[in-house]
Amino acid sequence: MITSPEFDSELHRTALAQLDAVAGRLQLDPNIHERLRYPRRALVVSVPVMMDSGRTEVFIGYRVHHSTALGPTKGGLRYDIDVNLGEVTALAMLMSWKCALMGLPYGGAKGGVRCLPRSMSVQEREHLTRRYTAEIILMIGPDIDIPAPDLGTDEQTMAWMMDTYSMTQGKSVPGVVTGKPIIVGGSAGRREATGRGIVYVLYQAAKNLGQELRGKAIVVQGFGNVGAVAARMLWNDGAIIAGVSDFKGAIWNPRGIDIPQLEAHVAATGSVVDFPGTEPLSNAQILEQPCDVLIPAAVGSQLHAGNADRIKASIVAEGANGPTTPEADQILRDRGVTVIPDILSNAGGVVVSYFEWVQGLQHYFWTEAEIIARLQELMARAFTRVWQSSQKNGVDLRTAALMEGVRRVADAHVVRGLYP
Ligand code: NAD
Repeated sequence: MITSPEFDSELHRTALAQLDAVAGRLQLDPNIHERLRYPRRALVVSVPVMMDSGRTEVFIGYRVHHSTALGPTKGGLRYDIDVNLGEVTALAMLMSWKCALMGLPYGGAKGGVRCLPRSMSVQEREHLTRRYTAEIILMIGPDIDIPAPDLGTDEQTMAWMMDTYSMTQGKSVPGVVTGKPIIVGGSAGRREATGRGIVYVLYQAAKNLGQELRGKAIVVQGFGNVGAVAARMLWNDGAIIAGVSDFKGAIWNPRGIDIPQLEAHVAATGSVVDFPGTEPLSNAQILEQPCDVLIPAAVGSQLHAGNADRIKASIVAEGANGPTTPEADQILRDRGVTVIPDILSNAGGVVVSYFEWVQGLQHYFWTEAEIIARLQELMARAFTRVWQSSQKNGVDLRTAALMEGVRRVADAHVVRGLYP
């Protein structure tokens, strides 16, 4: 098959390798398989921003729709220095499988701007967000494509996007994004949803493996929206959070790190490093420390051929998208490590985004208890289906999850046919 060079990146090669392997197992119609290897559409925009210094800087942004077969597209917006078209395209593809696996009426999308948000002022980030939104405005809308927060973006980013879009429509359009503040139509429980979902599937996996998480040592890579929430929930439940890292470095204490105190330290200093009572380690070292569960919740390709044989955890719950390369996947599988794949374990975010979208369309909002109960139910059902399929088909959890996600998208393409 031809691979288009414009989409080439490490993560895209990973996503294609995963799709190709699963297409073989599913005996997918080669015509459908070929279509699924490409995004439906991809937009590249330049985003000029007047910086605080008075100088204009031009950033490059992307929005990619992978598949629209199941409905409008859904996917996060990432601000990161490594953002490129290939990465965004791969992440959009993963969103297609994730939404389909979770039974949501969405196709997959993703957006990104190559920038270093940490080094920008609030005003610069607002201008960047508003101009980027204006540049991609034809690609988004409540029944077209609905962005959400991802790496480097948050509720405030979504509020600016929603406001910018609404200004062009002459009315408030909260349904154009999810993950926005509750005061402008956000949902209770959205901020915690991804971390919460990870913890749910982790409990189920541990139970099925005959393990108890209480008292177990856990390492969390990334202490942002996803990692910090997962760490806090597990700490509340009596797990030992032995290691945590962020972009600046890692901290380690095998007796356990006090997560509420670490949250206060991060709020005060901007990083987990130098947290009292912990040993400083590098970002690479923390992944290889002795622990029972590893939660990579930062960026992609962190577990690779060079470190997979030194990972000590017996369970890896992927919080980030694409944290494990195919080579590492193989090594971990051969070593008997249970990997709960991204499209299942971090799906809580898109599930509650879906709840937010549905609530907004109905103008009727649920309580946090209702959100949590529905999230738990969807995560539990998906986990059980994936676990049973992996047992039945003799495949790992990633393959089982991808088989279900890809099959649903493929089925939708088959019944819709090929236009014209
Ligand atoms: P975030 O920006 O809130 O936090 C990211 C964290 O990772 C920060 O602590 C940052 O310092 C750290 N980090 C960045 N680069 C790092 C590196 N090289 N090594 C170690 N730590 C590093 O982002 P987030 O929303 O928590 O997203 C984290 C991951 O989870 C991303 O891969 C994202 O795609 C994925 N994800 C997020 C959501 C969501 O709802 N936010 C949903 C599904 C998946």
